Amino acid sequence: MKIAIIGGGAAGFFSAIAAKENYPNAEVLIIEKSNKLLSKVKVSGGGRCNLTNSVSSTKDLSSAYPRGRKELKKAFKIFNNKDVMEWFENRGVPLVIQSDNCVFPKSQNSQNIIN
Ligand SMILES: Cc1cc2nc3c(=O)[nH]c(=O)nc-3n(C[C@H](O)[C@H](O)[C@H](O)COP(=O)(O)OP(=O)(O)OC[C@H]3O[C@@H](n4cnc5c(N)ncnc54)[C@H](O)[C@@H]3O)c2cc1C
Repeated sequence: MKIAIIGGGAAGFFSAIAAKENYPNAEVLIIEKSNKLLSKVKVSGGGRCNLTNSVSSTKDLSSAYPRGRKELKKAFKIFNNKDVMEWFENRGVPLVIQSDNCVFPKSQNSQNIIN
């Protein structure tokens, strides 16, 4: 199986990793139009990457996104902020939760997320 993903941003990379993990024999190709990969991730959160929020309910989480609340509520039942935190920690990225529930890499450096 060959899988082509258009765009080397956060969504593209996450999709590529998920595709490869679920279909190890697949040939996964990311096609990026610019000469920079994950450039928005690099600048996100002022260079620290606020990768998710630690609120405990998916209802609270989805209400933080007024324009896509309904759609996200469904998606968050499948993969939510806790899954995001687990995903990164299982891949060797320790995280910290701030008092305002914002979650960052412990390194305070978005490059760790990119790596
Ligand atoms: C300054 C700033 C700070 C931010 N801070 C945070 C934060 O702290 N926390 C947070 O969660 N989010 C933050 N965001 C938002 C977050 O960075 C984006 O939501 C996320 O990176 C979007 O990822 P994406 O893959 O959907 O899109 P993009 O990162 O835009 O990736 C899309 C990629 O596709 C490529 N592309 C487009 N069209 C084509 C084509 N036709 N062919 C090939 N390639 C194509 C583009 O060049 C790009 O590389 C921030 C954004 C900015 C700009």
